[in-house]
Amino acid sequence: MKTKFYQYSFFQGKTIPVVDAKVSIMTNALQYGTAFFGGIRGYFDKDQNAAFIFRFDDHYNRFLSSANILGCKFPYSHGELKKITTDLIKKNKPNTNFYLRPFAYVGHTELGPNLANTTLDFALYMIPLGDYLPVDKGLSLVVSSWERISDNAIPSRGKISGSYVNSALARKEATDGGFDEAIMLNRYGRVAEGSAENLFIIRNKTLITPSLSEGVLEGITRRSILKICENLGIKTLERPVEKSELYIADEVFLSGTGCQIAWVEKIDKRTIGSGKIGEITKKLQKIYFEIVRGKSSDYSHWNTKISIS
Ligand code: PMP
Repeated sequence: MKTKFYQYSFFQGKTIPVVDAKVSIMTNALQYGTAFFGGIRGYFDKDQNAAFIFRFDDHYNRFLSSANILGCKFPYSHGELKKITTDLIKKNKPNTNFYLRPFAYVGHTELGPNLANTTLDFALYMIPLGDYLPVDKGLSLVVSSWERISDNAIPSRGKISGSYVNSALARKEATDGGFDEAIMLNRYGRVAEGSAENLFIIRNKTLITPSLSEGVLEGITRRSILKICENLGIKTLERPVEKSELYIADEVFLSGTGCQIAWVEKIDKRTIGSGKIGEITKKLQKIYFEIVRGKSSDYSHWNTKISIS
């Protein structure tokens, strides 16, 4: 399948057509996965000819913290990253919802995996993006035989490229088995997350999600959902979750910038709850879509509006 993309990218300090943004096959990051990335959504509003960027600051905070985790120098400040991104959006004049992919990578061509004394290169491109996973039908998930990589192997707090081989293996297993997505358990056999999504269960009206120390990404959607629930008076718990709890949960859903809020109908071929979208998931999905589309004044501080003129 060919990915559609917006014409311009930021590459090696310049704005150039994405088709010309090319690296050598000898690039260290390509060989060893020595890179990290971000994933930011823009929701396009036709009436206002503007895009709403969800939690712009938080995304670049997490992005820069990956540079710190790798212990590498990074050439741009938080403010510069936001400016480069805003300029690129305006230059590409999007007319759809889109996804921004900032990418930091070891761009030299020396042999051997080594992050010492390294300054990272930076690139950014954007693609049109609808739903990454369906949000209007229930997903069928499978608990993966692949274990979620642990923090002491490749830190799960960073979006580090090499660690996504772990996600890709789980996703392949799920797809090959006819499932929509995988659930990964951590090294202790407890629930961690999806291949690229955080996971929530609801039991007796309480929203539960694995703690951050369970080897999960510090998801920005995850954090937003916890805050929305707090504001709605829904009880939340961040604690270890075991596999069998998934099967007996009233509701299960996945969250992420890509998947947004996607509800789960089946896990390992067992029906979850009533087999329909649950009451709390439905409520959260509705509020989430209002927020990211700039339609909720209570959460407008989470959005950055960029006029496309
Ligand atoms: N876990 C993993 C492994 C991911 O790649 C993602 C996508 N960034 C998420 C969770 C969800 O994080 P966020 O809500 O910040 O997109």
